[in-house]
Amino acid sequence: MSDPGLPTSPTERAGVARYEPRTLSPRPTAEWRASIVAAATEIGFARTGFAPVTPYAEAGAHFREFLAHARHGAMGYLERYGLRNAPRTLLPEAQTLISVALPYAGGSRLVQLRKRGSALGQSSGEAVIAAYALGPDYHRVVKTKLAELAQACADIVGRAVLARSCVDTAPLLEREAARQAGVGFIGKSTMSIIPGAGSYFLSGELLVDASIEPGTPLPDGCGRCRLCLDACPTGAFVDAYTLDARRCIAYLTIEHRGVIPRELRRPIGARVFGCDVCQDVCPYNAAADKHPASPALAPRPELLGLSLRDLLMLSAAGYRRLVRGSALERATRRMLQRNAAVALGNSRDPGATVVLRAALGSSSDLVRGHVAWALGELPLAGLTAELAECSRALASLARHDPMTWVRDEAEESLAALSKLG
Ligand code: SF4
Ligand code: SF4
Repeated sequence: MSDPGLPTSPTERAGVARYEPRTLSPRPTAEWRASIVAAATEIGFARTGFAPVTPYAEAGAHFREFLAHARHGAMGYLERYGLRNAPRTLLPEAQTLISVALPYAGGSRLVQLRKRGSALGQSSGEAVIAAYALGPDYHRVVKTKLAELAQACADIVGRAVLARSCVDTAPLLEREAARQAGVGFIGKSTMSIIPGAGSYFLSGELLVDASIEPGTPLPDGCGRCRLCLDACPTGAFVDAYTLDARRCIAYLTIEHRGVIPRELRRPIGARVFGCDVCQDVCPYNAAADKHPASPALAPRPELLGLSLRDLLMLSAAGYRRLVRGSALERATRRMLQRNAAVALGNSRDPGATVVLRAALGSSSDLVRGHVAWALGELPLAGLTAELAECSRALASLARHDPMTWVRDEAEESLAALSKLG
């Protein structure tokens, strides 16, 4: 008997594994569907559905338009992946796509956890990290569970099963797969929304070479609601169902490696990794609390009350400790420091001047430039000593920094501070 969850004989193709049945009493074909759903529930998935593996033509066309308008910004890998609408390009033998959803703590449940995680609750000095990223790296968690599910499939069908698991990074239109599987509809926010359970879920897909009756695609459930579109801090929605990633805080804080456009810095608020606003306002998430979050995705306490000042001054060793085994690994140390600088500027906390001035000495122009901007955002009127110190530091930067854009940032902030004196 092999270990549950581990492929017994991986094939040579990347990501594809062959699972041998561990039992000699397979289920009758008519029971496969219900048995696989029961196994997935046992593993911890809150929803499971079955989708066909024929190309998703309409969703593919929508995705092509997204690329044609360059709304993916610098996420060039999306172009390299091609149309992403044909599951069989990932596993030619696939007969069925099993779509699953693993719940994490979001919304009001997360507010409670945050209050417990920090003495001050959500104070102005704390970094806000998107709910999905607070726990261990979801890719690993969901993939491990999908491997368990693949093994269960082999046991249920009673023969060796070829399977490929996909979690976020595979070239696949995951939300369309979930819709076709009857797991969740695609909301105007472009999120996958599960009726009766909301959107605080991580999706996973398991392609298998077993034929299982597909589910019924879910119809649109948004109706006349447009709360998410109106609540987006950066106006990232071109229209309902259409996101311009280049304006989305999730893109700006996680994927975008360069300078954050000035006009988008204030709306970012204290968010240093991702954004939950369009989910938090969604009426479907009022039901989210009824579904227990997966213990495997439990938030790490140190990420619930992370100090912006500590994040700004993060050392290389501190960065490695912070991101190890976490989705935060996607952002570099300099990006997290850049995001912390923007968030400190938005905190409008005059007490942040000391740490910001110290960070002007960073060897990274990405950090120095955003710190210079943040200093110009602080309400220092009447604080003569702080005003003088910050003005001196900015004037020196404006004269000596080797990067033109950093000098420009320093000049702009200097001008803003000169109006306060
Ligand atoms: S994640 Fe935030 S910034 Fe992005 S679309 Fe949703 S509300 Fe807007
Ligand atoms: S907030 Fe309203 S419009 Fe947006 S996804 Fe939720 S139900 Fe749909």
